[in-house]
Amino acid sequence: NGFIRLGLAQELVAAVSDLGFEQPTTVQDKVIPLAMGSADGAAKFIDLMVSSQTGSGKTAAFLLPVLHTLLKQEAEAEAAAKAEFQRLSEEAIARGEAPPKKAKRKDPTNSRNFKAATPGALILCPTRELAQQVAHDAIDLVRHCRGLRVASVVGGMPYQLQIAKLQNANLVVATPGRLLDLQRSMQIKLDQVQFLVVDEADRMLDLGFSDDLAEVNQLTIERKQTMMFSATFAPRIQQLAARVMRAPQKVQI
Ligand code: AMP
Repeated sequence: NGFIRLGLAQELVAAVSDLGFEQPTTVQDKVIPLAMGSADGAAKFIDLMVSSQTGSGKTAAFLLPVLHTLLKQEAEAEAAAKAEFQRLSEEAIARGEAPPKKAKRKDPTNSRNFKAATPGALILCPTRELAQQVAHDAIDLVRHCRGLRVASVVGGMPYQLQIAKLQNANLVVATPGRLLDLQRSMQIKLDQVQFLVVDEADRMLDLGFSDDLAEVNQLTIERKQTMMFSATFAPRIQQLAARVMRAPQKVQI
């Protein structure tokens, strides 16, 4: 499979194989190594501004590198937790005590266990339909990734169901209005977002989401990777890019 040479985790290569993708498309070939910081001479986690059309494979071009890094981080966190548990067990045994019990995962649908969602990656889409499509694609791509969970946050859907699914989500796909609603009611916190993707930025502007985008950007940490996808690099798109990115590398397809 042609995705192997891009350096993606085997779980993700297995997922693209399942989907029947044999070779990366042009936008995937260019964006994935740059976004992963693995392209020759590139700084790590640079901001990207990409011109690409629907149908080019742009969705996997931003989802795969983001999922790759989240997966690596999840594996490292799990290994650290395991080592810590092992250490505590050995200490307890050395003291002649019973080893600690493994904590049970809390049922996120039980309101007593509520805590605000803190995703590591946020994908912003202009419309509900696009957000649902992107979330669907992300779910397809994480099918072999233990520990990665995807949720969508879109207008017109019942709040309760979205909120329950949002807990423990690593990657959230959202439309700006509903996302800010949930942020204001403290269902979601954006200060752990390390990857921010703005999909179809030109349509975001057409639909008047420019200020919402800037607000979301303000709520995330400064040190993150932002990628913006748009059909064109028209001046108004460049102005939006300047509001949310620092010296982005341009990728023209
Ligand atoms: P997008 O431009 O992201 O909307 O993708 C357009 C379509 O191309 C979707 O149906 C994808 O499932 C499909 N696709 C994306 N990447 C590949 C690939 N490398 N090989 C074959 N099909 C792909």
